[in-house]
Amino acid sequence: MSNETQSLGFKDTNQPQDLHAGGFSAWLRHFRTTLVNEDGTDVPCGRCNACCRSSYFIHIRPEETETLSHIPKALLFPAPGLPQGNRVLGYNEHGRCPMLIDDQCSIYEYRPLTCRSYDCRIFNAAGIAAGKADKSPQIPCWQFSYPTQRDRDEHAAVQAAAKFLREHTMNFPAETIPNNPTQLAILAIKVYDVFLKQNTNSGKTGGEVLYSEMTGAIMAASRKFENRAKA
Ligand code: SF4
Repeated sequence: MSNETQSLGFKDTNQPQDLHAGGFSAWLRHFRTTLVNEDGTDVPCGRCNACCRSSYFIHIRPEETETLSHIPKALLFPAPGLPQGNRVLGYNEHGRCPMLIDDQCSIYEYRPLTCRSYDCRIFNAAGIAAGKADKSPQIPCWQFSYPTQRDRDEHAAVQAAAKFLREHTMNFPAETIPNNPTQLAILAIKVYDVFLKQNTNSGKTGGEVLYSEMTGAIMAASRKFENRAKA
């Protein structure tokens, strides 16, 4: 979610073309660190603001006081299922965030952490489609590079994780696996190392070992990641 005016990845015809997403392993490490530190990331959005027009509810935490002070109270609602003080910023009948004015974020300097943390490269990383409402033309254009075999192995592992999570949702306790594509891609990124070939039993890939072994390992990896985030 950017206000950059430079044109990245768009021809004069406004047709998207390939966008360099960076080396996969470097991107993966940076994004995982962002998830742990919760300090936002830097996505080369160019002039794309599609995610601000994609019918997303934007979560705003109670401690984001500066952000909250720049948004009219009438646009903020209690966040369902979260403790009091958490808010969501909705969207209008066209799916646009109400803070998007003249195609620019009117509170860019103070935009919510949710916006600062959003990186649509996660869908390419996980090999899954974004939600139907996401209008970003950039998503299919991102191209990761693979300077080393490790980059290829890690990308394959993230995609294997996303595939396993999607196909074996029923093997996990209820509500463990998100059905929202954004959250599913993020979970795959958190637990991908379970699917690195060298970390699976007998060098088998994720789909070849027992489901129970995989689900247990995924739950443990997810807990480990969350504990790292809380530490
Ligand atoms: S607050 Fe700004 S960056 Fe976030 S969705 Fe709205 S317009 Fe986009």
